[in-house]
Amino acid sequence: MTNFNKRICFNINDPLCPTYGTQFKDLLNLRPGAEQKVVFITARVHPGETPSSFVCQGIIDFLVSQHPIAKVLRDHLVFKIAPMLNPDGVYLGNYRCSLMGFDLNRHWANPSPWAHPTLHGVKQLIVQMYNNPKINLEFYIDIHAHSTMMNGFMYGNIFEDEERFQRQAVFPKLLCQNAEDFSYSSTSFNRDAVKAGTGRRFLGGLLNDTSYCYTLEVSFYSYVVGGTTSAVPYTEEAYMKLGRNVARTFLDYYRLNALVERPLKEIEHPNAGTFSQSLVHSGCPTTAILEHRPHGQFGGN
Ligand SMILES: [Zn+2]
Repeated sequence: MTNFNKRICFNINDPLCPTYGTQFKDLLNLRPGAEQKVVFITARVHPGETPSSFVCQGIIDFLVSQHPIAKVLRDHLVFKIAPMLNPDGVYLGNYRCSLMGFDLNRHWANPSPWAHPTLHGVKQLIVQMYNNPKINLEFYIDIHAHSTMMNGFMYGNIFEDEERFQRQAVFPKLLCQNAEDFSYSSTSFNRDAVKAGTGRRFLGGLLNDTSYCYTLEVSFYSYVVGGTTSAVPYTEEAYMKLGRNVARTFLDYYRLNALVERPLKEIEHPNAGTFSQSLVHSGCPTTAILEHRPHGQFGGN
């Protein structure tokens, strides 16, 4: 712990912005450096979606652990994590809204520092990073929980650029290999008008074409492992395990993209290999590319 503690900056004395009942101060900044590839993760914008906190906890636990993969990730990437985008809503026991009654995940386009302070603060930080030539904001993942769907799955964006659209499918494909509860077949890409104010949609339109923005959803209830039919109830540990698998999937992704240059025998993964090999052997079914998907009243992000 001693070595990487020196590289962790807990900004607990530097609140991102004031809120109306709680202090938003849980932004973690791992491994400050010069040229930075940044992975930005948010969770709990919808306060009732408690599973998203366990998934986020799993991600953080893994990243700060002594696991060899975690060490490699810390050496190559910067993870910015806002584990609770709606702390006032959580404090009050709201299901979907903030203290002032807003669904914050519909206000990314023009958040108010007065009405949506946490969202405004996080967006400002993301825009600052986007405008910093020394920073490449490569991933944005917003974690939610789903009230009607099974398994973990993702929503992505639809782009006119076919290559960008195809590249966007790589991360969920790799995650499908690492996490038995993650469903690639439930992963879908859309540009529904009703989702225009979400973090995933807004940042997908703002960031450059080498950035990938996803909503990570996980079922409130259970998951079905591929090839079986029985539902396995989710537990807190299963949610955290999904988080750990999300974190380690970044190694697979960046190995395919040559960020991790040298073979690391001590962390060889059974699914390691070329991108084409990975997809051929993944066993993941083809994803759905849908403009509209009926996910229930509170479904989706
Ligand atoms: Zn949600």
